[in-house]
Amino acid sequence: MITEYHRPHTLEEALKLLARPGVRPLGGGTWLTQQRQIDFEVVDLQRLGLNRLDKMGNKLEIGATVTLQSLLEFDALPKALQSAIKLEAPLNLRNAATVAGALIACDGRSSFATAMLALDARCSIAGGEPVLMHLGDLLPLREEQLRGKLITTIEIPLNLKLAFEYVARTPADRPILCAALAQWPSGRTRLVLGGWGNSPTVAMDGSDATGLEPAARNAAYNADDEWASSEYRRQVAVTLAKRCLKTIRES
Ligand SMILES: Cc1cc2nc3c(=O)[nH]c(=O)nc-3n(C[C@H](O)[C@H](O)[C@H](O)COP(=O)(O)OP(=O)(O)OC[C@H]3O[C@@H](n4cnc5c(N)ncnc54)[C@H](O)[C@@H]3O)c2cc1C
Repeated sequence: MITEYHRPHTLEEALKLLARPGVRPLGGGTWLTQQRQIDFEVVDLQRLGLNRLDKMGNKLEIGATVTLQSLLEFDALPKALQSAIKLEAPLNLRNAATVAGALIACDGRSSFATAMLALDARCSIAGGEPVLMHLGDLLPLREEQLRGKLITTIEIPLNLKLAFEYVARTPADRPILCAALAQWPSGRTRLVLGGWGNSPTVAMDGSDATGLEPAARNAAYNADDEWASSEYRRQVAVTLAKRCLKTIRES
């Protein structure tokens, strides 16, 4: 439960507050305000000016507190990322939830985190030595890696093709399995699967699309849970990966 609320005006003030034990950054608060089992203080990030979207050449720099809806409405956003954001949360939630908050609170069923991981998003982290960290390196140990620190911006490339496919009980439900495939002009091809576990899984990152199908099948090898068997997910993963590749080749 939240025991104290701080709203600093500068990044330095925020980091000073976050350096104390039991203090956590507050983005949109949609996840954090539900955490009632432990007591903690929050540092609201809304006055830090981290809500900017800057297109710099082939890259988009997304401020940590940009809402999912503002990102969705950004003109140059890949259509497949828009679809993944729409599936992530309904409109009211998208208007409150922030990009950094959504990534840090994600589980394996997050369509947004799946697409951002396929884009090989990189997070700028403030507090101590400033670090630029790949989302894939951050997610597995996010609690420890971010203690006393703050994501300030998230960077994604725009000069590539991205496809996103999913299966779910209903079109608006969270995915039982989703696939995001990114292909760079160099041919680099990166496949990420979501739908189970604590965070999405990188199935392959190669210099081209060779080996896509076995990579999709293998990545879902231990993907058993109450929603689906790994056998089912292995088969569907291949189908979704092929659909993504077809979309990219035809675009
Ligand atoms: C009614 C309801 C329905 C929901 N349904 C779903 C759902 O279907 N699927 C789903 O995945 N989620 C769901 N959620 C969870 C939630 O909406 C998302 O996880 C949300 O995107 C979190 O974003 P936020 O900005 O509100 O994060 P917050 O709640 O503010 O924070 C989430 C976590 O991120 C950390 N954090 C925030 N900003 C930063 C930063 N800049 N640097 C470092 N750490 C940071 C916080 O300390 C906290 O640990 C639901 C929530 C509600 C209230």
